[in-house]
Amino acid sequence: MLSREEVLDIFRRTGVLWEGHFALTSGLHSGRYLQCARVQQFPEENTLLCHELAARFKDRGITTVIGPAIGAIIMAYEMARQLGARCLFTERENGVMTLRRSFTLEPGEKVLVVEDVITTGGSVREVIEVVKQHGAVPVGVGVLVDRSGGRADVGAPVEPLITFDIETYQPGDCPLCRQGVPVVKPGSRQLKP
Ligand SMILES: [Zn+2]
Repeated sequence: MLSREEVLDIFRRTGVLWEGHFALTSGLHSGRYLQCARVQQFPEENTLLCHELAARFKDRGITTVIGPAIGAIIMAYEMARQLGARCLFTERENGVMTLRRSFTLEPGEKVLVVEDVITTGGSVREVIEVVKQHGAVPVGVGVLVDRSGGRADVGAPVEPLITFDIETYQPGDCPLCRQGVPVVKPGSRQLKP
C-alpha cells in the first residue's frame, strides 16, 4: 500500500507535482502545479501507481480497461496488464469520442475506464457513453488524481489514487506575489526538474 505522501513523493520525483509560484493559463496564480502525464515517462513509477490503483478493482470481473487517447493509453495498458485484462482506447472522430481500429466491446462485458487526472470529467463521461453504446458495463473509473473535489459526476463510481486540491489566487491577491517569489509559467523552459 502506498500512502498519500508516498504517492506525492513519486509525483515530485517524476516531475508531476511542481511547487513554487506559477502563472496558470487561466491567468490565476498558484503555489503548485500538476502535470500528470509526466509520470508516464517512467515505466517503473507508472507501474507502482497503477499497481496500487488496480488493486482496488481486483475481483470485479473486469475484462477490458479503456481510456481516452492519447493521454490515457499508457495508463490503460499498464492497468490492463495488472488486471489481466485487455486494453483499448477511444479516439475522437470529427470531434466525437468513438472506438476505432476495429476495437470492439462485447455486450455485458465489465469495463474499467481510466484517466490520469479528472477535473470536470468531460472526456471520461464520453468514454463511458462509448462503453454503454456497445452494451458493455462501465463498472468504475480509475484515476490517478481527482481534482474535482469529488464532484465530477461521470456516470460511474470514480476511484482516485489521491484527491488533490490546488489553491489558486488572482494575481492581485496572491500571497506568493506579495512575498516576491519569482513567478514562472508552467511549460516554459524555466521549469526543469
Ligand atoms: Zn502570484
